[in-house]
Amino acid sequence: MAAQRNKATAGQQESILRQLPAVDRVLENGQILDWARERGFDRRFLRLAANHFLDDLRSGIRSGRVDANHLEERLAHLAEGVATSAESLLQLNLCAVINATGVVVHTNLGRSPWSAAAADRVAALSRRYLNLEFDIEAGKRGGRDAPVERLFHQILPDAGVAVVNNNAAAVLLVLNTLADGKEVVVSRGQLVEIGGSFRIPEVMGKSGSILREVGTTNRTHRSDYEAAINPNTGLLLAVHPSNYRVVGFTEGVSLEELVEIGRAHGVPVAEDMGSGNLLDLSPFGIPHEPSVGDRLASGVDLVTFSGDKLLGGPQVGFVAGKPEFVQRTRTNPLFRALRLDKATFLAIEATLAAYVAGQLDEIPTVAMLKAPRDVLQRRAEALAKRLCAEVPEGRVKIDVVEVDSRVGGGAAPETDLPSYAVSLESEEGPNRLATALRLSDPPVIARILEDRLVMDLRTVQRDEEDDLVAVVASVLTAD
Ligand SMILES: *Cc1c(COP(=O)(O)O)cnc(C)c1O
Repeated sequence: MAAQRNKATAGQQESILRQLPAVDRVLENGQILDWARERGFDRRFLRLAANHFLDDLRSGIRSGRVDANHLEERLAHLAEGVATSAESLLQLNLCAVINATGVVVHTNLGRSPWSAAAADRVAALSRRYLNLEFDIEAGKRGGRDAPVERLFHQILPDAGVAVVNNNAAAVLLVLNTLADGKEVVVSRGQLVEIGGSFRIPEVMGKSGSILREVGTTNRTHRSDYEAAINPNTGLLLAVHPSNYRVVGFTEGVSLEELVEIGRAHGVPVAEDMGSGNLLDLSPFGIPHEPSVGDRLASGVDLVTFSGDKLLGGPQVGFVAGKPEFVQRTRTNPLFRALRLDKATFLAIEATLAAYVAGQLDEIPTVAMLKAPRDVLQRRAEALAKRLCAEVPEGRVKIDVVEVDSRVGGGAAPETDLPSYAVSLESEEGPNRLATALRLSDPPVIARILEDRLVMDLRTVQRDEEDDLVAVVASVLTAD
């Protein structure tokens, strides 16, 4: 109502609008020209920023937000105004967020944060020329993924490996290479959809292969596969069910058995492993998932897996297995369309090198998965103490609570990882608090559990703790 009362009449607004300078006048301002030259902005962008600034004032005047005095004030600081408009036009959308959800491989938050070694390598080398496809010793063209294969051999000496953009691409490539125009036999219990519209039947359609479903949702037998094999069978495919489980009255065919069936009929066998852990994670409380090495030891011809799930690297899809099969995928023309950027190569090399050296704590995802409970408890207690010191008493109840973290990324969906969180409980409920934290800089993404907002320390990196304290303190002391 107050705005209504103060609002200028249409005639007054017109006269304020007439005081707005023309864009060409703004572009004659010496201060603005100097600033644009310094920043390397061209004339076209400068005009865009000036128009943006003037449009903003124009709509302010029309809405009554900008009166004559306000306008005079803004025009007295013309250069600052245009600079602010320029910055807002250039604002980038991606920003770092603090993941306090406790979901380690969080697909909405960029999955695995890169290791410092991976990030440093990219920062140092991406500005320069590299021997990406150049054999320095021979002085001629070299293979793009040879360095990755060399490192991979130190982990799994007998396996061939090729890398593409992500695991979805790896699956597409394997299907197209081994079964274009041919049938691929898959159990009905494994025709899964992974979040983000990756569905096995649809990928298969795009690969040119023909889905041959066998068995039922809960039970598939060896004889089902055997009965489906015919002269046009190109591949037997096993798929990790990832984010769901078939439980109860179930039966499946093990990968070892599938390999036997494939051998007996001369049909290759592949598995989409999904997460693809290079390590046995059971010492860290994650139920035994066969590792890439375990799977290859079963005799499977190819496996595919992601680089940015449990492996903790950049977004990559691995095709690993029998060297002659890997080589066939590499010579498929699709391979060229799915290849990695140099930044990803740099990051995956650094990540694999940490595995070779056993420096697991250097890989954030792995370090988070194996973080000991007592360490998480101490961190939560220290964080709660710092918050209690900064936040006026009575506004909110700050506690340390036990919570369950999640692996995420479709891996081990039923596994809870016991963890510790700082919980905030206030009279107004957790939703407003969650929104305020999300809209902070940096955004803090937390979880709501019953009436509390909880921040799980497992997924908060140590060098983010100061920011976290500052953001939470500022939200809790505001208004
Ligand atoms: C995650 C997943 C994919 C897709 O992998 P991206 O790396 O996200 O492309 C495919 N198959 C399974 C079983 C998965 O878990």
